[in-house]
Amino acid sequence: MTTTHNLGFPRIGKNRELKFALEKYWKQEIFQVELQQIAARLRQQHWQDQAALDLVPVGDFSFYDQVLDTSFLLGNLPKRVVQNNSNALDNYFRAARGRSAGDLESQCVHAGEMTKWFDTNYHYIVPEFDKETQFSLHTERLLQQLEEAKQQEVKVKPVILGPVTYLSLGKAKDDSDKLALLEQLLPVYVQLLQLLAEQGIEWVQIDEPILVTELNESWQQAFKQAYAQLETSPINILLATYFGQLKENLTLACQLPVNGLHLDTINAKDELDQVLTCLADDKVLSLGIINGRNIWKTDLLATLDWLEPIHKTLQERLWLAPSCSLLHVPVDLNNEQDLDETIQSWLAFAVQKLTELETLAKALNEGRDSVSQQLSANAEAIKSRQQSKRVHDATVKQRVSDIDEAMGQRDSAYPQRAAIQAKRLELPLFPTTTIGSFPQTIEIRKTRRDYRLGLINAHQYQLAMQEEIKNCVREQELLGLDVLVHGEAERNDMVEYFGQQLTGFSFTQFGWVQSYGSRCVKPPIIVGDVSRPTAMTVDTTQYAQSLSNKPMKGMLTGPVTILNWSFVRDDQPRSATCLQLALAIRDEVLDLEQAGIQIIQIDEAALREGLPLRQSQWKAYLDWATYAFRITANGVRDETQIHTHMCYSEFNDIIAEIAAMDADVITIETSRSDMELLDVFDQFAYPNEIGPGVYDIHSPNIPSIDSMVALMEKAAQRIPAQRLWVNPDCGLKTRGWDEVKPALSNMVAASKLLSERYQR
Ligand code: GLN
Ligand code: ZN
Repeated sequence: MTTTHNLGFPRIGKNRELKFALEKYWKQEIFQVELQQIAARLRQQHWQDQAALDLVPVGDFSFYDQVLDTSFLLGNLPKRVVQNNSNALDNYFRAARGRSAGDLESQCVHAGEMTKWFDTNYHYIVPEFDKETQFSLHTERLLQQLEEAKQQEVKVKPVILGPVTYLSLGKAKDDSDKLALLEQLLPVYVQLLQLLAEQGIEWVQIDEPILVTELNESWQQAFKQAYAQLETSPINILLATYFGQLKENLTLACQLPVNGLHLDTINAKDELDQVLTCLADDKVLSLGIINGRNIWKTDLLATLDWLEPIHKTLQERLWLAPSCSLLHVPVDLNNEQDLDETIQSWLAFAVQKLTELETLAKALNEGRDSVSQQLSANAEAIKSRQQSKRVHDATVKQRVSDIDEAMGQRDSAYPQRAAIQAKRLELPLFPTTTIGSFPQTIEIRKTRRDYRLGLINAHQYQLAMQEEIKNCVREQELLGLDVLVHGEAERNDMVEYFGQQLTGFSFTQFGWVQSYGSRCVKPPIIVGDVSRPTAMTVDTTQYAQSLSNKPMKGMLTGPVTILNWSFVRDDQPRSATCLQLALAIRDEVLDLEQAGIQIIQIDEAALREGLPLRQSQWKAYLDWATYAFRITANGVRDETQIHTHMCYSEFNDIIAEIAAMDADVITIETSRSDMELLDVFDQFAYPNEIGPGVYDIHSPNIPSIDSMVALMEKAAQRIPAQRLWVNPDCGLKTRGWDEVKPALSNMVAASKLLSERYQR
């Protein structure tokens, strides 16, 4: 018999119950007991959803994120968050978000840094280490969940984050060496495993996903040291790796003294043979055969063809699971009411993925006949998707294969076109602009909602939006900005807005995935070949331009960002889907140019997010991603100015590729890092124009004229003043007009001061 298990289940709830409960607690609308009750009910539901498995994860539920939970478990919360007379959960929320329910201003602290969990769109709070870091075991949370699970007769498998990955994800706040902490961390893990064993637990899952990244020798050594010590514990360890291939860490992973290894065979299928050779024959091998990162049905027959021989060899040593935690997919497809039936038949969310797992296990254990109905229904869905006209559009495929390199190249090099653009646009030194969106007021949201609900008709909606544009343009004129935008009032989301107007996209009602804390996103699904039936933004942009003599920037989302923020089809390489998106947005760029728009911004906020986990694979990704951008942007005439925008300051390691995109202007987030980004320009001469953000739009603070002048002067030490722009870090949609007006007014004043100072 093969064993089925799961690495983790989404905790947000199929109706986002956890989100709403957390936010109510933070606003003091409910007490902590109620929050705890809601959490316990969710866990119960989720264990029921997984009841058919042989082993069910416990401890994967979290009020914020599993890395912060681990810091909590190991007694490693930053000192600043631990307040006297305060309970543990409030300290935990302070670490996560700087404050907990009902905190006075004086109790607020700075929140822990947040960063992306491997190559997912999920974020965790970075553990902090320093010379004084000490660990101690705090198992209350975990034991409580174990107790609940036992009462509900759940077949428990606790899930914990491994010691080496935990250390590697953290950050030393002083010059101490975090790896040196391993020695004092391990006894705490040993103690934990001992405790779990005393609870009668047989198997524990220890996640070590950094095994799929490049590790130097000391980190490899750390693995050996760690697991040699944990081996002494009277409990079976399943070491879980996921998100990628083991590569040079394969032998290491196979030889660690644990009782089982989980391999993500969605990503590392090719490594199976090697693992089979290397793995001692008393160890369990768990195969992650169902994709935990996308929403497509598994091809069960193809999977079985591949699995059956492996099962023959391994017998009960073979375990089956999804590739990684199901945290990264929505909860339950059956929630959807409006989804096209055919498309729905191609999809599987967390609950459906576990059913697939069950079917596969049954087919192995009892023969295919025992699940013949499920298998044939699955085969039909797979075939329907493969052959569907909704997926395949010959015209789109032809257009993609006709793309040639020249389409991604501007007519002239930057210096020539910059001169032409300067003449046409007549901008001052240090020109000012914004990133696109202006405050999304309650009225704007209400108008969009009324339209969606059919309470106002298309004409009324259009008039209301024009009113918003008029107001936004007037404000920008009054502020004295140089390059204007229409304000993006009509956009609820920068990807969804375009997806809804392109073919090949599908949208769910409840396909929420946790992004961080209580925040969720609902990624569109790229179902089929992508094209643009008609212009998407031309009317709006033209209308906005008609209201002003200043240049109006056209605002588009770039192909790489649309790709990286969607669930992408798995039947062709991501790069192929990206090129289809590139052509669709290119059509829009050319139409905007045709309509007389002189400046077009193509946002690539998520370009960096697509970087592979291993640096050795970065180049391949950057090659096709930046190529797609160039195809999108570079078909315009010399006189048209292309802007792009990126939302992060870690820019240094990909600067050459970004420069090769050849946008005339790039605007970028920098103010929070105090222009640290600019250090890269000491080594790399960025050839085009750049607008390093001077206004931190994540903060309600109004930046002073002096602070912005100072930041720009730092920039002017590295980049000639003639090539600098003055702008905020990102869009202003989450801010209020009462903040935006004074901030931009200061920004314009700063630009004036600078241009006087640098005028020759
Ligand atoms: N143009 C978008 C805006 O201003 C860009 C948002 C982003 O970069 N995330 O809102
Ligand atoms: Zn941004």
